[in-house]
Amino acid sequence: MSRTPKLDPWGTPPWKINFTPSRRKLPACVDFAIIGGGFTGLAAAAWLRLLDPDKSVAVFEAARIGAGASGRTGGMVLAETAAGNQPGLGDVLAGFESILGKLKVRCDLKLNGAWEIARKPSSGKAKLQQSPIAWNDSGTLRVVNEVPGGTLDPGKLVSGLARAAQRQGAHIYETHRVQHIHWSATPDLHITTTRGAAQKITAAKILFATNALSLPDAGLTGMHPRLTLAVLTRPVSEKVLFAIGLAERQPFYTVDFPYLWGRVRPDHSIVWGAGLVQSPDADDLEKVDISAEESSGAFDRLEDRIRHLHPTLENIKFSCRWGGPILFRDSWKPVFDWHPQSIACATSKGAASNNSDAPRNGIVLGAYAGHGVALSSYLGTWAAEVLLDRRDLPKWSALKP
Ligand SMILES: Cc1cc2nc3c(=O)[nH]c(=O)nc-3n(C[C@H](O)[C@H](O)[C@H](O)COP(=O)(O)OP(=O)(O)OC[C@H]3O[C@@H](n4cnc5c(N)ncnc54)[C@H](O)[C@@H]3O)c2cc1C
Repeated sequence: MSRTPKLDPWGTPPWKINFTPSRRKLPACVDFAIIGGGFTGLAAAAWLRLLDPDKSVAVFEAARIGAGASGRTGGMVLAETAAGNQPGLGDVLAGFESILGKLKVRCDLKLNGAWEIARKPSSGKAKLQQSPIAWNDSGTLRVVNEVPGGTLDPGKLVSGLARAAQRQGAHIYETHRVQHIHWSATPDLHITTTRGAAQKITAAKILFATNALSLPDAGLTGMHPRLTLAVLTRPVSEKVLFAIGLAERQPFYTVDFPYLWGRVRPDHSIVWGAGLVQSPDADDLEKVDISAEESSGAFDRLEDRIRHLHPTLENIKFSCRWGGPILFRDSWKPVFDWHPQSIACATSKGAASNNSDAPRNGIVLGAYAGHGVALSSYLGTWAAEVLLDRRDLPKWSALKP
């Protein structure tokens, strides 16, 4: 696995993560090791301890909690998966709300719906007769559908989940990068800290929640890791929001191309996003610097596009540029499966088996594309239940479909 991601090369998003995990000595072994301190890993850690306070749980985060997509996300809360609903998925938004309630996480969640916008009318049932917006963007962008969804503050969600995990008794180790796993019945994790110290820890079970980074070690091949870009305007007046059709505060995203998404923040600033930057070197996103030519040109083009959406936006000022990693595969379905190198293990339901569906000691969960704010916590807690041998993996999320 490569070097620790730094916040600066990907820019700094506008919200704050105001929680720092307590520093602790590494134990020699744990029941559950979680790799990655984003929404997925933190929700899984908190849930594991909530359901089974007797089990030890450690989260290893290469940089700081939220350093990946979770601290940099757009903050639109969306239902289902990027590939739509899946058999047995359940109600993601209701589940997410319930998880936040049980973990006592406050993150300004507002589920007031989301707008699908497009240049052409939708064939969807919920087609809106009158669009509040009419933006000039390779045609006229209009609202074509209203779907369940909403917004939240990503900094508060990262902090809240981390605080909940620690309050429940999970230990979070920042700047601890898992370099390698030696898979066996009791796998060893080889970890380095940013100071260069190398340590080894044994875990009974492992959850890989590293999203678009550390792909080979997570067993994720044939995926598409990209850096996606976002910008923030300075706060605008209520009059401007009304003129551009965002007075109702619905977040929005295109269902055709070119892609555009965004939302109004409580201080009247507007987050906008679009554009993907590919890593120049074998999908190693950590090498992308957003101030370099390709990304900087993409930001200029995005800001220019926004200024031309509506006459009121012509002189809009921007205060922030940042990027973050997303991972998707051709089917757009998340991956939620046994790690390919994990070992079948004995469970409370029976002895170890060679059956490929039999419980094993490692799970990989991620690849939500731009659809992971609610889904990551929702599936993170599901993963905790699978690790505790209380639930099965879904049928639609196999690594090799
Ligand atoms: C700019 C942007 C906007 C987005 N907007 C939206 C949106 O509006 N709505 C929506 O639903 N989704 C959105 N998404 C997607 C959503 O944010 C992600 O799907 C979600 O945050 C993924 O969470 P995660 O915990 O799985 O991954 P991450 O948050 O990426 O966490 C993975 C963590 O693993 C750590 N890590 C990696 N390798 C190692 C290792 N070897 N050892 C230890 N730690 C390691 C990383 O440092 C990182 O902190 C957006 C994503 C981006 C980037």
